[in-house]
Amino acid sequence: MGFQDRYSIFSVLAEALRGHTGWKPAWREPEPKPAYDMIIVGGGGHGLATAHYLASQHGITNVAVLEKGWIGGGNVGRNTTIVRSNYLLPGNIPFYEHAMKLWEGLEQDLNYNAMVSQRGVVNLSHSDAQRDAYARRGNSMRLHGVDSELLDRDGVRRMLPFLDFDNARFPIQGGLLQRRGGTVRHDAVAWGYARAADRRGVDIIQNCEVTDIRTEGGRVVGVETTRGPIRARRVGLACAGHSSLVAAMAGLRLPIESHVLQAFVSEGIKPLIDCVVTFGAGHFYISQSDKGGLVFGGDIDGYNTYAQRGNLPTIEDVCEGGMALMPVIGRLRLLRHWGGVMDMSMDGSPIIDRTPVEGLYLNAGWCYGGFKATPASGWCFAHLMARDEPHPVAAAYRLDRFATGRLIDEKGVGAQPNMH
Ligand SMILES: Cc1cc2nc3c(=O)[nH]c(=O)nc-3n(C[C@H](O)[C@H](O)[C@H](O)COP(=O)(O)OP(=O)(O)OC[C@H]3O[C@@H](n4cnc5c(N)ncnc54)[C@H](O)[C@@H]3O)c2cc1C
Repeated sequence: MGFQDRYSIFSVLAEALRGHTGWKPAWREPEPKPAYDMIIVGGGGHGLATAHYLASQHGITNVAVLEKGWIGGGNVGRNTTIVRSNYLLPGNIPFYEHAMKLWEGLEQDLNYNAMVSQRGVVNLSHSDAQRDAYARRGNSMRLHGVDSELLDRDGVRRMLPFLDFDNARFPIQGGLLQRRGGTVRHDAVAWGYARAADRRGVDIIQNCEVTDIRTEGGRVVGVETTRGPIRARRVGLACAGHSSLVAAMAGLRLPIESHVLQAFVSEGIKPLIDCVVTFGAGHFYISQSDKGGLVFGGDIDGYNTYAQRGNLPTIEDVCEGGMALMPVIGRLRLLRHWGGVMDMSMDGSPIIDRTPVEGLYLNAGWCYGGFKATPASGWCFAHLMARDEPHPVAAAYRLDRFATGRLIDEKGVGAQPNMH
């Protein structure tokens, strides 16, 4: 890596003196080769992170990431940027805490400013039962060495005085705080991983849609793409909302439904919210971007679709949730909103596993929590693809759990994607 390839105060100063004419593109635009050791389908956060860790942790660099659109055009560039590891179940906590630790060192690892901001995540409670459930979750986190604090009503009020504490239907009783949670600039994560993987020799091939998965005698031998056939003995699927479509090319029927989830951004205002807040009585969560816009979201739209746009009833529902929690936003204007296609699994937890097709690996089922998982997902998927055995912190994310009944039902609501 040359001097100008490394982002630092010195390269910024040197470029300032020469009119910023020396910056190179952050990654190459290579032509696909006829064969690779490994192919990753999907250039979202998970696919790019997998490529980076295959190269940096396992020394496997003859790898292609095939992306049908452009890097960052999928959910990795559409989410509301929240990262946290405040889970309850033993199958989940170590995995999401591994992600949190990787977030904490990500910018140094990638030499890229991903705006990792550990500003805290507060889940509000509105009833005795909910407070008890949060106490249980907080204790479970602590038993796993993860930070958590149970706040009473005054504790929440000190942090967030503008909330409606005495709402007649949803009075705020307290909250569960994870101070190490926060936000990360979503598309910078895609760009940072892409740049780091490219520097180690990974080919990131955009505008290259996988149209078929080729198998011989029950094992994968390559893929067909809109830019021709490409051979590989190991293929990893990291296609998020399109997982079921791509897996079907290899004859697999996944326990996944695709749903649309929307995100919203208001006009910019002065600093108001310095953490992430979630409403416990409805589905609404909110933070403030560094540009000043309030970033918020709520439920999935509730019907199966592959369209990256949502509908008005959900916008109304999300805004009602926001008004119940913090009426102070009532006169704000909504600046923009968009949708992403979610790969909703049947228990709300992901899959990182081998498939019945030898050499074909699956990374899917992220529901609306997959952004925070990105580093650990890439780390564990790279481990699985390189060694053909699961990483210990992702060992519970087996595909066959939907047949054996060993579900990881974090919310305890059963096989209902609309409830997770
Ligand atoms: C509105 C919204 C808000 C969210 N908020 C949060 C949040 O606050 N916190 C959180 O943790 N998670 C959140 N999520 C979820 C999170 O964004 C996703 O779970 C995660 O980004 C999915 O992984 P990915 O980044 O790899 O997906 P993507 O970026 O969608 O990557 C998958 C890629 O596969 C490509 N692809 C599909 N089919 C093919 C094919 N045939 N050939 C080649 N390429 C293909 C797609 O084009 C896409 O680029 C949110 C999601 C949305 C939509």
